[in-house]
Order: sequence, then C-alpha cells, then structure tokens
Amino acid sequence: MMIPKLSLVVPVFFEEECILQFIRETRAVLETLPLEYEYVFVDDGSKDNTVALIMEEAAKDKKIKLIVFSYNQGKQAAVSAGIRYASGDYLLYMDPDLQDPPEEIPRFWEEIHKGYDLVFGVRKEKKDSLINRLMSWVFWSVLERFTGLKLPKGLAVMRIFNRNFARQFLEYREQNRFIEGIFMHIGKKRTQILINQRERFAGTTKFRFRKKMQLAFDAILDFSEIPLKMAVRMGLGFVAMGILSLIAIVILKVFFIDFQTGWPSLFSVVIFGTGMNLFFTGIAAIYIGKIYKEVKNRPLYSIDSIINIEENDGK
Ligand code: UDP
Ligand code: MG
Repeated sequence: MMIPKLSLVVPVFFEEECILQFIRETRAVLETLPLEYEYVFVDDGSKDNTVALIMEEAAKDKKIKLIVFSYNQGKQAAVSAGIRYASGDYLLYMDPDLQDPPEEIPRFWEEIHKGYDLVFGVRKEKKDSLINRLMSWVFWSVLERFTGLKLPKGLAVMRIFNRNFARQFLEYREQNRFIEGIFMHIGKKRTQILINQRERFAGTTKFRFRKKMQLAFDAILDFSEIPLKMAVRMGLGFVAMGILSLIAIVILKVFFIDFQTGWPSLFSVVIFGTGMNLFFTGIAAIYIGKIYKEVKNRPLYSIDSIINIEENDGK
C-alpha cells in the first residue's frame, strides 16, 4: 500500500528563536504517524539567522525543503509559494511560532481522512488581551458583512487540506490575495476542529495594529464591491437631499418667511459635498490601482534560492 505523504507548509520571517524548537516538536509528532512527510519552509526575507538555521537542518535531512524569497513579500505570497512547491498528498499549513500546537497534528490527520477536503482549526479560547480580542471581533464581523464570506470566529492558522484542495487553491491567480478569503471561497467539503492554543514560543508578532488594519482593508477591497455600491447609494441620497432642500427653501421663501440665507451654511454644505466626492473618488481609485496590479500580472513572488526541491517537484 502506498504511504501517504504530508507536507508541512510553513512561512517564516525572523523566526530564529522558534524554528529549531518547531522542527523538534513537529518531527517528534510526525514520526509517530503512519505517513511520509516533508517540510516546506518559505523564508519571506528574514535578515536574522533563520535561513542559516534551516539550511543547516536541510543539509542533514532532505525532508526539509526551503524556498528563500529575495526580499519580504508578505505572508500571503509566502504561503502561496509553499503550497505551490509542496509535493504531499496532504498539506498542513502552520506558523513556526508554536501558537498552534504540534500535538494537535494527529487529530487533523484523523479528521481529514473522514472524507473532507479541508479541516481548519478553531481556537477554543484566544490567549490575548481583552482589547485585542475585541478588535479581532470587530475585524471579522466587518469582514463578514462586507465580503459575505462565512469566516469562523477564532480561526486558527493551523489547517490541513488534500491535494485536490491545493490544486483548486493554485487556480486562484489574483495578485491581491487574501488567503483566508480564498480558503473560504473554495467551496469544498470542509469541517473544523477545536484546538488549544499556546503563547508564542519566542520572538514577537509581525502583525501590529497598523498592519492588521491594512490587511482588513485589503481583504474588504479584494472580496467585496460594497464600497463601490455604497458610493452610488450615498451619492443618490445626497442628490435627493439637495432637491428636497431646494424645494423646501422655495416653499418657505414664497409662502412663509422672507429669511436671509447666510454663507456659513452654504460653506459647510460645499465642504461636505467636496469631501464626500473626494472620498468616493478615492475608493474608486483604490480599486483601479488594484485592477492595474492584476492587469500587469507580475510574478507572485521573487525567489532567491530553492533548497532540497527538484525542479519538477511542484505541482
Ligand atoms: N510572516 C511572513 N511575512 C511577513 C510577516 C509574517 O511570512 O511579512 C509569517 C511569520 O513568520 C509567521 C506568520 O507569518 O510565521 C504569522 O506571523 P505572527 O506569528 O508574527 O503573527 P500573529 O500570529 O501574531 O498574528
Ligand atoms: Mg503567530
């Protein structure tokens, strides 16, 4: 019987403090399962010892594969490259900071064999401050409202999917890629399991407030046309208001009082109108920028070197 192969797809960016511990812990778990495995690390332009450490491991163990990006191109690109170069029948996507615990791997492995294409982890509880949890609640709620995607609350990074699902993922050719959105957009058979989560093993988060907000904004624009429709609706609303107020002024003037209209009200109306105009032109312009990026159709990532992978390994 053929032994199935599992690929661990792992984006890394300044993770020198976590990486060896990650390999140690995951390897210990993988060795107990009836499978072949490989690691597909994608380094997203780390400038610390991350690459050197993985190279050292890769020299000892051919199962450790590494793709080194020429410079920092973002997690979305790194994950895409990892999926592209993984050769397993099943792919398990994890971060190396050990927030998603390796001891949960056997449960994922068991669950995917019940006939699902994707099994994603959902955190039982988030080990985070109240303010952070509140922010992430707002983030996911707004996202769901705008994009119509069913995004489970407390979605963890850790997830497993089969070759079929990976193939479908690689069909998404967009340059602006919101990975969580694409995962949910692929309408295959999926389920979720509850997992415990640990604190980050070492190092610090690379997604601070600004970067998170940027991600939310991009996600909305990549998966939703609501902001464009909003512009049209609000524009129409203001036109209607303008006409009504004009009628009201005429009626008041003719039938009721002889009032003097002042410039402050006029001024505020003009400023407001101009602001609205600029705002929505701006939104349209952002979409045009994104279309421009898609049309240029540049490569998704620029790779510096590939270690332990034969040229035709990627599917
Ligand atoms: N990451 C990346 N490129 C970046 C930023 C982050 O590949 O530009 C990777 C990083 O190495 C980690 C994962 O994305 O594996 C998640 O980052 P982190 O753990 O810092 O985020 P958090 O879990 O706090 O949201
Ligand atoms: Mg993390």
